[in-house]
Amino acid sequence: HTRYIGDWSSDVCSSDLDFSLKAYSHETHEYDVVVVGAGGSGLRATLGMAEQGLKTACITKVFPTRSHTVAAQGGIAASLGNMGPDHWQWHMYDTVKGSDWLGDTDAMEYLAREAPKAVYELEHYGVPFSRTEKGEIYQRPFGGHTTEFGDGPPVQRTCAAADRTGHAILHTLYGQSLKQNAEFYIEYFAVDLIMAEDGRCQGVVCWKLDDGSFHVFNSKMVVLATGGYGRAYFSATSAHTCTGDGGGMIARAGLPLQDMEFVQFHPTGIYGSGCLITEGARGEGGYLTNSEGERFMERYAPHYKDLAPRDYVSRCMTMEIREGRGAGKSGDHIHLNLSHLPEDALAERLPGISESAKIFAGVDVTKEPIPVLPTVHYNMGGIPTNYWGEVLSPKPENPNEIVPGLMAVGEAGCASVHGANRLGSNSLIDLVVFGRAAAIKAGEVVDSSSSNPELNKLSIDQAFDRFDNLRYAKGEIPTADLRLQMQKTMQEDAAVFRTSETLANGVKKMNKIASDVKDLSVTDRSLVWNSDLMETLELTNLMPNALSTIWGAEARKESRGAHAHEDFASRDDEKWRVHTIARFSDNANSIDLSYRPVIKEPLSSEEQGGISLEKIAPKERTF
Ligand code: FAD
Repeated sequence: HTRYIGDWSSDVCSSDLDFSLKAYSHETHEYDVVVVGAGGSGLRATLGMAEQGLKTACITKVFPTRSHTVAAQGGIAASLGNMGPDHWQWHMYDTVKGSDWLGDTDAMEYLAREAPKAVYELEHYGVPFSRTEKGEIYQRPFGGHTTEFGDGPPVQRTCAAADRTGHAILHTLYGQSLKQNAEFYIEYFAVDLIMAEDGRCQGVVCWKLDDGSFHVFNSKMVVLATGGYGRAYFSATSAHTCTGDGGGMIARAGLPLQDMEFVQFHPTGIYGSGCLITEGARGEGGYLTNSEGERFMERYAPHYKDLAPRDYVSRCMTMEIREGRGAGKSGDHIHLNLSHLPEDALAERLPGISESAKIFAGVDVTKEPIPVLPTVHYNMGGIPTNYWGEVLSPKPENPNEIVPGLMAVGEAGCASVHGANRLGSNSLIDLVVFGRAAAIKAGEVVDSSSSNPELNKLSIDQAFDRFDNLRYAKGEIPTADLRLQMQKTMQEDAAVFRTSETLANGVKKMNKIASDVKDLSVTDRSLVWNSDLMETLELTNLMPNALSTIWGAEARKESRGAHAHEDFASRDDEKWRVHTIARFSDNANSIDLSYRPVIKEPLSSEEQGGISLEKIAPKERTF
């Protein structure tokens, strides 16, 4: 497999070479399954694959327990009913309504039905959940989670390990995966997918960040678990590593992304830093006030108040600020009040956010309110999949056509359970339910006794060519400058509220910014810990994610969930209850939009214990 051996020892590489090494020597590895990503979804998939005896590798650009899931605070939703009555059917109803009727009903049923099983499994793997007096898993209220199909009071459904739930889950799943002999390739950067001529995915090309070597993974199944692309925006709660690399690889493979216009703004990012204050803070009794000290959510959502879903609360906060009732000297933020809560409850239930408020806002939560602002938090859109995690490449004649050998899970994927708006604590459960589902499916379709087919050399060459072109990029624009232009444009033109004018403007600006990728300048040519080159690769991944977000938003002439279009203020189910499918050409710079019907049928009928179609039929979303 060594096609060309270029001398890329650090001495040679750090000098300014004026020729390109068009191919790189590499080591080839063979596996049944390769999972790209070691966050909650990647680790749950890895563990499930390895448990079944599949030869499994997990590749990650950061150490597994530093994956972004580590930051998840508030908890994981499952209708355990430990703190009062609850049923998976209520959870499913809330998820359908939360999605503003854009989620796929089969996937939403699968999520709600499997959630309790998945949480007990986590408990048995060793996740140290907080406990009730009776020793059961502690559960807190979260926005949009209710009882009696939305007619009853809020429910305590979100299972928590204090306010460090993601941290607890990640450490447990990593330990369990090691126990099952899954093999980890840590600080390996996946550059591109290897696609066979018949459209099957065959593996992935990787760059090892700490020694500059290259690795080609040949596997019967590739699972993309690369997380979201929050960093396409200027102010985001997500880590700097959330650069939508899976979406970038998909776009370059000519495969589509789905529903990218739906970007969640979390109501309570700390003003200035964007660091998250969990919705669990409102679940524990915190509330929002404007400059007049008014609990304004009582006006907008008389029933659920501060625990209305995120899209709704974020819009109400923005309206308060626009109408001159923002807090602070510039009237540009809102206050989150926790000081009325008992100090021991804050210390026990919300220790992490008390610390974040101190560090990032200089606020003592026992005495003062935290200044907060809606901040980009989650991507509902992503790589389209069915509820087994199999990647879809929808065609007019078959909207559910799958791409053999390729799966996607977690925030990178779009199953689609969150539709136009995700409910808080429904992501962590999505990670483990669909990570597990992907492993079950792979157990069925991957034949570990067969040998891996020969790899498509052309596809590998293309990956190395792209890498090499970026490594030797000699344009005028530094990566950080172009990234900033993209982030500012997305922040201004694809914001909480959108208009035809801002979106059209944004599309124009983003087209220009994306075309400037060819004028990038990379100054460091080395291969060992070259953060300039890594950030450039990440920018080329962020770009198709950002482009498809703003193109999809511009085209969607309605308001639904997180997509609040001021010129089309209502939801239009007749025309727009469809998934946006964004396909790329010209190396991911030009986009073709089409639409795929939402799956409206649940998995089980009312007679089988499921929800009736009538119960989940679209209606006005009030709180
Ligand atoms: P991530 O955890 O982001 O992991 C991505 C993985 O992919 C990493 O291992 C990374 O190294 C790897 N990777 C990416 N690109 C490459 C590449 N090119 N090559 C190799 N490896 C790569 N949700 C809830 O349900 N409850 C909560 O309480 C909650 N709290 C949150 C708090 C914060 C601050 C934020 C921002 C989000 C929160 N969320 C919460 C959302 C949730 O945490 C995320 O959606 C979820 O953790 C994403 O997990 P993931 O497995 O998809 O990806």
